[in-house]
Amino acid sequence: MTENGHTRGVVDGTDVDARAAAFLAEGTIPHVIDGEGRRSLAGAERQIMNPSTGEQIGVVASGDADDLDHAVRSARTSFEDGRWRLLAPREKESRLHRLADLLEEHRDVTGDLDALDAGILRKYASFVTQASINALRYYAGWPTKIAGQLPPVGPEYLVQERVEPIGVMGVIKPWNGPAAFFNQVAPALAAGNSVVLKPAEHTPLTATYMALLALEAGIPPGVLNVVHGDGVVGSALVAHPGVNRLSFTGSVGTGRALAAAAAQTFKKANIELGGKSPVIVFDDADLDLAAPAATRSVWNNSGQVCTAGSRTLVHRDIYDDFLERAVAASTDLTVGHAFDDGVDLGPLISPQQRDRVRDYVDVGRAEGATVKLVGDVPDSAGNFQAPVIFADVDMSMRVAREEIFGPVMSVIPFDTEEEAYRIANDTEFGLAAGVFTRDIARADRASDVLDVGTVWINCYQVVDAAVSFGGSKYSGYGRSLGSPALEEYTRRKSVWSRRY
Ligand code: ADP
Repeated sequence: MTENGHTRGVVDGTDVDARAAAFLAEGTIPHVIDGEGRRSLAGAERQIMNPSTGEQIGVVASGDADDLDHAVRSARTSFEDGRWRLLAPREKESRLHRLADLLEEHRDVTGDLDALDAGILRKYASFVTQASINALRYYAGWPTKIAGQLPPVGPEYLVQERVEPIGVMGVIKPWNGPAAFFNQVAPALAAGNSVVLKPAEHTPLTATYMALLALEAGIPPGVLNVVHGDGVVGSALVAHPGVNRLSFTGSVGTGRALAAAAAQTFKKANIELGGKSPVIVFDDADLDLAAPAATRSVWNNSGQVCTAGSRTLVHRDIYDDFLERAVAASTDLTVGHAFDDGVDLGPLISPQQRDRVRDYVDVGRAEGATVKLVGDVPDSAGNFQAPVIFADVDMSMRVAREEIFGPVMSVIPFDTEEEAYRIANDTEFGLAAGVFTRDIARADRASDVLDVGTVWINCYQVVDAAVSFGGSKYSGYGRSLGSPALEEYTRRKSVWSRRY
C-alpha cells in the first residue's frame, strides 16, 4: 500500500496519495484567512465535482463579500504591521525556498488534488505544481535584489527613488491550472506584499492545501489568504478599498467587467485573458517537428489552455501532407479518466463546458469546415470530448475567430508569407503564436510582425519563470513572470532631501 514512501487512499474509486484522501475526508475544504482554515461566515458551501466521473468528491466553503472583507482586513493588518513586508530580504528568500521544498515534498498530493477537481491528467498534474515551485525558486532570489535608484539631479538634493511593495494584492484565478497560482503569488510575496487569492469555484483544492503549506513554511498568518467562491467574491475583491492591485486570469467577458470595475477605485490590474493563437507552418518547416507540436498544442489539457494553438496556418504546398500527419498523430488518442495512465485527453471541466465545445463542433460543420478527425468518447458520466480536426477553415468562420477552450483544431491554408501574417493577426486576441520554418530570416520577420505577447519558433508552449508572459489586444495587458512582473507588484516613491 505504499508508493514513493506514502500510503495510499481512495477517492471516488480512485487510488490516490493518502494525504490527498485525508484532506478531502476532513470535511469542508476551508478558506484560509489570518492563518486559519475557516468556514464561510454565512455557512454556505458548494459541492466539489470530479469531472472524470461527474461524481461529488467533497464540499468547499463558499464565501461572500463578508468572508472576503475578513480576508482583506487580515491581509491589510499583516501588511501594515510588517510581519512579512519588513522581514529581512534574506529571510524572505529562505522562507520562499522552504515553501518550494515543501511543495516538492507534496507534489504527489497536489497532483492528485488537481487531477481530482480540475480533471488534469494525473501523469501531467504534478507539472502544474512544478510551475509554482519554479516561480517560488525564481522569485526567492529577488527580495535581496529589488533595489531603488539615486537619480542624479545636481548637488543641492539627494533623491532616492524607492521601490516599495504596494500593499494587498487581489489574485483571481481560473480553473485550468489551479496549482500554478504561485506564478502570480510568488512575485507578489517576493516584493513584500500581502495577498488575497480567489481560486476558481470549480477547483478549490490545491489553493487551500498549498496556502496551509505556506504557513508551515513560515509565510506569516494573514500574508496569503484564500477565499473560495464564485464571481460574487471576485467582484467584492475587485471593489474592496483595502485591495491595492489586482491580477486576473480568465475569460474576456469577465476581464472586461473586471477592468471597468477596477477603474472605479483606480486599481491597476494585470489581466491575462484568452487566445486564438496561430501556429504557422511554412513550406520549409520540419514537419516531423511541426505536426506533433501543433496537434499537442491543442490536445494539451484537452484544449483548456489559454495558449492552445487552436488555429493552425499551413502553407498550401504542404497542406495535405501536414493534415495527414496531424490526423495520424491524433487518431489513436484515448479520451478518458484523468487518473488512467493510458489516457491522452482527460475530461473538460464541467458538463456546460463540454456542451459548449460540442456546440462549436456543430457550428464548424454547419459553416462548411471539413471534418478530418473526430475521435471516440468513452461511454461514461465524465465530461468528455473527443479531439476534432477541422480542415479548410477560413477566417469568416466562428471556429476560427472564437476561443473554444476544447480539443478543436482549425487548419487554415495560406499561399504567401504575407498572407500567413495577415491571417495570424486577423483576430481580436494576441496571446501567442508559433512559427515553424528553417529560414531564420523569416522567423525573425515573423517575430517582428506578429501582434502577440509570446512567439515560439520551432517549439510551442515552453515557459520558464524567468521569462515574462502576457498578451496584447483582447488577450489582456500586463506581464506575469520574469523581472517585469515585479514592476507590476511594486510601486515607486521619490524622496527628495535637501543637502546642507
Ligand atoms: P472561465 O470561463 O475560465 O471560468 P471566468 O472569467 O468566468 O473564466 O472566471 C475566472 C475567475 O474569475 C474565476 O475565479 C471566477 O470565479 C472569477 N469571476 C467570475 N466573475 C467575476 C467578476 N465579476 N469579478 C471578478 N471575478 C470574477
